[in-house]
Amino acid sequence: MYSYEALPVAEWFRRNRELAGFHNSTRALYQTIRELVENSLDATETYGILPTIYLRVAVEDEQKSWVSVYAEDNGIGIPGNEIPNVFGRVFYSSKYRIKQHRGVFGLGLKMVVLYAQSTTNKPVLVRSATLKSDKIYEYQIMIDTNANSPIILDRREYPNKYRWHGTAVKVVLEGNWLGAKKRIEDYLRRTAIIAPYAEIVFKGPDMDLWLKRRTTKLPPAPKEGLPHPKSVDVDTIKQMLLDSRGMTLLEFLTENFDAVGEGTAKAFLEWAGFNPNAKATALTPEELVRLVEKMKQYEGWRRPRADWLSPVGAELLEIGAKAILGAEAVFAVTRKPESYGGHPFIVEAAVAWGGQIPPSDKPLLLRYANKIPLLYDEGADVARKVVDEFHWDNYKVKFPAPLAVIIHVCSTKIPYASAGKEAIAEVAEIEKEMRLALRDAAKKLRLYLSRKEKEMELFNKYIT
Ligand code: ADP
Ligand code: MG
Repeated sequence: MYSYEALPVAEWFRRNRELAGFHNSTRALYQTIRELVENSLDATETYGILPTIYLRVAVEDEQKSWVSVYAEDNGIGIPGNEIPNVFGRVFYSSKYRIKQHRGVFGLGLKMVVLYAQSTTNKPVLVRSATLKSDKIYEYQIMIDTNANSPIILDRREYPNKYRWHGTAVKVVLEGNWLGAKKRIEDYLRRTAIIAPYAEIVFKGPDMDLWLKRRTTKLPPAPKEGLPHPKSVDVDTIKQMLLDSRGMTLLEFLTENFDAVGEGTAKAFLEWAGFNPNAKATALTPEELVRLVEKMKQYEGWRRPRADWLSPVGAELLEIGAKAILGAEAVFAVTRKPESYGGHPFIVEAAVAWGGQIPPSDKPLLLRYANKIPLLYDEGADVARKVVDEFHWDNYKVKFPAPLAVIIHVCSTKIPYASAGKEAIAEVAEIEKEMRLALRDAAKKLRLYLSRKEKEMELFNKYIT
């Protein structure tokens, strides 16, 4: 006889933690830093705050290889009553919105807490205050994996005399510092390249990093958007219909979707064979499925808007790459918005040349998705393929060459190859834009290199 049971969601993630990047004590330490930094950046720059982030890794027990990780930011903070759920309930997030974020799954913090408690049995310590809050809240939290809910071990409130705002988190976990050190350093440096407006201070057992703010310019913050008709499925529409009592199909489409004006909606409904004045909630299940099919097939929608995105921009990319890579010259481009499956995206690329970049047989590739540096699974990433297939000889580049390539994709939905968020899957539209972005940047490099060549010729003529 079989015996059936449901596995609680938090328990499922605890058992399958490698899916979220917590494979072992090296990856887990790296991933912990990553999740905390990403949350801190989301809580600052998205709200027009110049990020300042303090990080500390300390050895707590050498024998057991226990380390503590502390992260503090100057972000918008978390409301006191939300802190337990935010840290203790899997799939609890403020980012399930159509807008570019680093976080997407509502999972990061919970994986950190789950990993910490399952290796050291210690709670997470949180301190937070929202903007203008007159109190600071402090919690100690663990997760009840069976109930997928927080266990609050301690809760305190302090007066917020100096109007501090932000979030500080401390966890103790089994972590291999020596194993993770290099990756953590790479991750933080690469973060500083794409976010030169952030100040990041890191203290580790035998490594200190101070990545200074290089500019006070922030990229424009993304706006919150509506879904594009090509991006929704039947379930999503069903959900949307619950809030659309009394609306006609025409109203339903124009109110709830991006890129759908009245004219477009009418043309679509006529083409798809629906009565614009029928009540949206009266659709039969079969009609619903047909509607969604037609919405995907229709060619007449406007493109999804890109206001929900926040690309870094060529200027900031050049500042960041020059400062951190020590390059002689950097050429960056931001392509125009495109879309795949109804999701808007923008590709940015930069080529960095010379200076402190060591010459090598193929370009050093720095991959980014929604401003997150991607360090693992490079072989699975479509960017690697694009860079390898690129005809560098057409652009005056001869290997070995001191060349680094930065490729950044931002989107309301990055097609990650896995929940660990380390590689971008092969999507034809994105691949094409990567190629074009690289071409645009490489053209500028070619111009620069041929100018240099001419200067050298002149110079040689002059001295001989
Ligand atoms: P995600 O980032 O995918 O939403 P997380 O589990 O990492 O999932 O975080 C859950 C939520 O907690 C976030 O959506 C955000 O609202 C809040 N949060 C986490 N870290 C911070 C922080 N440093 N500052 C402000 N809010 C935060
Ligand atoms: Mg997160």
